[in-house]
Amino acid sequence: MDFAFGEKEEEFRQEVRDFLSEVVTPEMVEERAGGKYYERGPHSKELMRKVGEKGWLALTWPKEYGGQGRPLGDRFIFAAEMLNYGVAAGGSGIAIVAPILMRHGTEEQKKEWLPKIARGEIEFSLGYTEPDAGTDLASLQTRAVRDGDDYIINGQKVYSTMAHQVGYHWLAARTNVDEPKKHKGISLFMVDLKSPGITIRPLKTIADELTTEVFYDNVRVPAKNRVGEENQGWYYIAEALDFERSLVVNIVNSERIVEGLIEYTKETKHKGRPLAEDPFVRQGLAQLWIEVNIKRLLGWRTAWLESQGIVPNVEAAVLKIFGHELDQRVAKTGMEILGLYAQLEPGSKWAPLKGIIEHLYRFAIHLSYGGGSHELMRTIIASRGMGLPRLH
Ligand SMILES: Cc1cc2nc3c(=O)[nH]c(=O)nc-3n(C[C@H](O)[C@H](O)[C@H](O)COP(=O)(O)OP(=O)(O)OC[C@H]3O[C@@H](n4cnc5c(N)ncnc54)[C@H](O)[C@@H]3O)c2cc1C
Repeated sequence: MDFAFGEKEEEFRQEVRDFLSEVVTPEMVEERAGGKYYERGPHSKELMRKVGEKGWLALTWPKEYGGQGRPLGDRFIFAAEMLNYGVAAGGSGIAIVAPILMRHGTEEQKKEWLPKIARGEIEFSLGYTEPDAGTDLASLQTRAVRDGDDYIINGQKVYSTMAHQVGYHWLAARTNVDEPKKHKGISLFMVDLKSPGITIRPLKTIADELTTEVFYDNVRVPAKNRVGEENQGWYYIAEALDFERSLVVNIVNSERIVEGLIEYTKETKHKGRPLAEDPFVRQGLAQLWIEVNIKRLLGWRTAWLESQGIVPNVEAAVLKIFGHELDQRVAKTGMEILGLYAQLEPGSKWAPLKGIIEHLYRFAIHLSYGGGSHELMRTIIASRGMGLPRLH
């Protein structure tokens, strides 16, 4: 067993560091650290454009689709370095849509969509959940009916995050109502969110972040925008969710927040002594430090599986639960260490760590169900990971 990177990978890591040292500005880090997780500000957009120009959003894709044909390990090195620099680039298009298009799209779709995704020109919002279809996603009722070269789509999606900020919806809709097995009548579409008949309404979350509801009223979508075979969408969604779970775990950069807390306790005095000398503070930080390291190892294990061409399933569920519950523990321990100051919001000049703990405390709540609830994740682990009987 060898945990170290090889010479070529270390060279690439250095190349990434050199590039990031040149392009990452304090404003980009600031926007990511103090900003909102579901909103992309001007500095983050600029970084995305620069990384796209460099060809590093799609490092591992074949060259004919806008990629660089590099080994998958390079993608994880790149992502890890971005986290180290406190920035992020690449959203659902790169992480979720592209892998499915690559595996199940037509040649025409790959040539048309992948290069634009690789350059960071187009981005997607995920349109799975409906008011009556969350965990039980197979119950979704948004209807797509074939009409010549188009489908006509009617229905309502909820929690389509970033739909108000991006150009396209990655939409799951029912194409067969007669099929008794609900999951066998679903298809996937790429929909231009500016199509006539679409209305997007904002929904404010407890963390003051926006997600949306998207309404479809007789929306015409070209049949060539259907991904994969008709009625097979469920299987593509399941695959896409495995990719999503291993990536959404990095929405919050818990490592960096823990580093920030450690620095804060060294610099801040209480009753004349640094907080870092308080046994309670040290216990809390040590526990977070252990867990941050475990998350890193779980992340590399999932990455390694992907590099072997294996879609991580149980491993992605383990990583998502551990990572997102860690975010919640970071927020809780952060609250305890910062005391009353922890309640100050981003924007307050008195807020320690720019208010990130206060924001994370509210934001991290929904991480236990966004991308699949943790009860569902534990059900997957119980049946597929531990071999317990499946419940019907
Ligand atoms: C801020 C935010 C952003 C989101 N972004 C997106 C997005 O971009 N695109 C998208 O499509 N969706 C998105 N979601 C939706 C998310 O995926 C769903 O909230 C999630 O799948 C749970 O569905 P639900 O909210 O309908 O809850 P429900 O399915 O009604 O579940 C409610 C509770 O019951 C539990 N439960 C339900 N069924 C079972 C069962 N069989 N066994 C055990 N426990 C069960 C759940 O675990 C949960 O605790 C987002 C949600 C939020 C809050």
